[in-house]
Amino acid sequence: MNVSIFNTGKYVGLEQHKEPAFSAPLNSVPLRGNAYVPIYDPYGGNMRPVVRDGDRCARFSLLARTTKPHSNQIGPSWVMSPVSGYVQGIKTMEHPMLGRVLCVVIRPDSSVPPLPTTPHSLNAMTEDGVLRAIHQAGIIDEFDHRPLTEKILQAKERDIREVAAIALDDSPYVSSALKTVSEFGMEVSDGINVVLKALDGGSAKLAIYDCDEIHMDAEKYSFGFIKPIKMRGGFPLISKFKHQYYPKGNFLPVGVQALRSAAQALSVGIPQTNSIVTVSGDCVKHPGNLVVVNGTPIEDVLRFVGVNKVPNYVIFGDTMTGNTVSDLQTPIVAGTRAITVMNSLSRPDKTSCTRCGKCVTVCPMDLPVYEAMRHYERGEIDEASQFGAEYCSGCGACSAVCPASLETAQIMRNLKKVKLKLIERENSKGN
Ligand code: SF4
Ligand code: SF4
Repeated sequence: MNVSIFNTGKYVGLEQHKEPAFSAPLNSVPLRGNAYVPIYDPYGGNMRPVVRDGDRCARFSLLARTTKPHSNQIGPSWVMSPVSGYVQGIKTMEHPMLGRVLCVVIRPDSSVPPLPTTPHSLNAMTEDGVLRAIHQAGIIDEFDHRPLTEKILQAKERDIREVAAIALDDSPYVSSALKTVSEFGMEVSDGINVVLKALDGGSAKLAIYDCDEIHMDAEKYSFGFIKPIKMRGGFPLISKFKHQYYPKGNFLPVGVQALRSAAQALSVGIPQTNSIVTVSGDCVKHPGNLVVVNGTPIEDVLRFVGVNKVPNYVIFGDTMTGNTVSDLQTPIVAGTRAITVMNSLSRPDKTSCTRCGKCVTVCPMDLPVYEAMRHYERGEIDEASQFGAEYCSGCGACSAVCPASLETAQIMRNLKKVKLKLIERENSKGN
């Protein structure tokens, strides 16, 4: 995990390795073979493919839709094709972010023209119209992997009118948010306006990560109408930002890539079909931030950057919260911020919990991590899920500080799933 802890208290200090990727030019990864486009509804509904083997599919055309409308007040979800080409079949894959999921396999063909798109005028639109346009673009927020529409609707219910654009690349190898802001600052700022219109709000802040390696100078980069707030400190930095600027929690944090997608959904009328991904790690030859079409397999990305040591750990995400993958056909999907490829992940050998309490101290949600883990390890899942796991943000800080190398964050994430299912079951009984 290459964690070097240099401060104590609420945050984990981490040695940073992001400069090589940040300073490399932003390139696009060509698709060499097939694209694998997952069919899933981020709201949990059932999706049905509407294409079959051999079908011609244009970029932005419909691949799948929900079988029945869900209660998100906006309408059904759908999956649009990120590439033009021909359908080669439908395959089940195990995906680190989505679990077991059906994927439409598409052989790209540039002779198939994309579907025409319709730009919208933000000024001429109502709040609901903006919300519908964001929903139709299928935007997943890379900050928390949630649909942007769902987040906006929840914020509206709570009468929140403040937006915080989040570019807090606080894990060691990741700089995709900083790259998004430095290259597309104006689009991020337009995206903030789009979300503010949907909220009928308000004001906004832009939080950017600041470290000795990378200085985001306002003179060098254009951030549109907004003055950035530079945040320094340990992981997870969002906690410090929240504590300093929104202690009551009355704000809507949105990742800068999602904001850029929101701007594009309005100004060009296109869905979210690509991601800016930091590809880095101790065995990547040419680390960089890359524009990757969603559906591109990791192997195409690795071939593009080159690998100069044995890639023992291919991590989908970053070293703090990501998951190791073995299948290099695993596709990049909306919300992917990083692929980290490591030869070694230096952590002490796993031992037993010593109850040192470091996991509890560092947890931004103040969860009694080791208590929950103690029950979990005894197989007492119901008891274990009573310790507030539903509030776990999955930040990984507890695992990073654990001197016994215990996978506490993974356990808390598992418990969160259990608890959310229990809550859903209770709610459906009440309806
Ligand atoms: S940090 Fe690790 S060893 Fe310490 S109490 Fe938490 S789980 Fe146990
Ligand atoms: S992963 Fe969850 S339990 Fe662990 S520190 Fe982060 S919020 Fe707390």
